[in-house]
Amino acid sequence: MNPITTKVAVIGAGISGAVCAFNLAKSGISVTIFDSARGPGGRMSRRREIAEDGRELYFDHGAPCFTTTNTDVEEMIRVWEARGLVAEWKQNYGSFDFITKKFVNFEKEGLSKKYVGIPGMNSICRALCQEPGIESKFGVMVGRLEWLENKDSWSLIGLDGQDLGQFNGVIAADKSTFSHRSTQVTMKPPPLDVDAIPGIANMVKEVPVRPCFALMLAFETPLSSIPIKGFSFENSEVLKWAICDSKKYAEGIIARDGLQKPSNAALAEIAEELFGEFQRTGLDVSVPFFKKAHRWGSAFPATSIARDEKCIWDRTKKLAICGDFCVSPNVEGAILSGLAAASKFSESFSCL
Ligand SMILES: Cc1cc2nc3c(=O)[nH]c(=O)nc-3n(C[C@H](O)[C@H](O)[C@H](O)COP(=O)(O)OP(=O)(O)OC[C@H]3O[C@@H](n4cnc5c(N)ncnc54)[C@H](O)[C@@H]3O)c2cc1C
Repeated sequence: MNPITTKVAVIGAGISGAVCAFNLAKSGISVTIFDSARGPGGRMSRRREIAEDGRELYFDHGAPCFTTTNTDVEEMIRVWEARGLVAEWKQNYGSFDFITKKFVNFEKEGLSKKYVGIPGMNSICRALCQEPGIESKFGVMVGRLEWLENKDSWSLIGLDGQDLGQFNGVIAADKSTFSHRSTQVTMKPPPLDVDAIPGIANMVKEVPVRPCFALMLAFETPLSSIPIKGFSFENSEVLKWAICDSKKYAEGIIARDGLQKPSNAALAEIAEELFGEFQRTGLDVSVPFFKKAHRWGSAFPATSIARDEKCIWDRTKKLAICGDFCVSPNVEGAILSGLAAASKFSESFSCL
């Protein structure tokens, strides 16, 4: 097999899949990246909303920023910074204590460097997916992955049964590709039957997740009662960060309403409840002209299934599984996992 003609599919255009696709394309592999969403980013997405008066609003309603202590990731960030895709976020960060009703821990929170995508968090994934050698297919949900023994390749089938092509290798860059949890939403078995792949069956485990809601608010003028640009909450049962609530609240809603996408009416009710909790801070919070909640059913994986290897890899079938759930529940973990998956492929194809 020649790397020039090697075709690989990446399922998921979040940061792990995008980093993996970029590195594979750099080593001469032809990559097709699929994502069920309308665009790239996954949990680093940017959301466009239109207010009642027609104003266009953008929210980084997933990860609002990220940090790193890993030198490989720092090296990538330098490159992204030079391309204008990320910048250090130098604003003050702190915590709000619900008991003392005061902002605290300014220094502790401010110690690590925080990075943001420019102009939004999805900019990195977007740029990586547009690199030469990568074909991006958005709005396409991969429904089934079939190993063709006689052809030594994978066949990808869409959720509605459409043929998505044959590939020499596959990177599944999201746990929903093998998790039975996804069945509750699609009403179909997960795309990948890991039990049929003896090499990895015992390594891939169902990943418990922590859900959350993000409350998106827009105000006419900056809130002068808040002296900092970003903050977390301490001692609140409901609020966790200035952008999202605690898992306990979200788990309660999921237990009540199931994993299906919540209705607009349910989301409006949740937005009211979360905003009510925000008002209970006692801070002088004016009435927002836009208020909407978004549910992240699988916001944070609660375990890491490949902390040392950083991805799951089956050499025989050229299958890698990567994502934050392999390493750590954050952008850095997802990047490291995507890098590991790409290097497994590159090594494997280069020695053929
Ligand atoms: C509210 C919130 C706040 C956060 N805050 C931070 C933070 O401050 N700092 C930090 O470092 N991290 C934060 N995170 C975590 C961070 O966003 C994630 O760890 C990281 O983005 C995960 O990237 P990923 O590539 O592993 O997965 P994802 O971004 O989830 O990407 C997986 C992609 O796969 C696609 N997909 C899945 N199945 C299929 C299929 N069958 N067919 C096609 N496409 C499919 C999905 O649509 C998705 O786009 C936050 C997350 C949330 C939700």
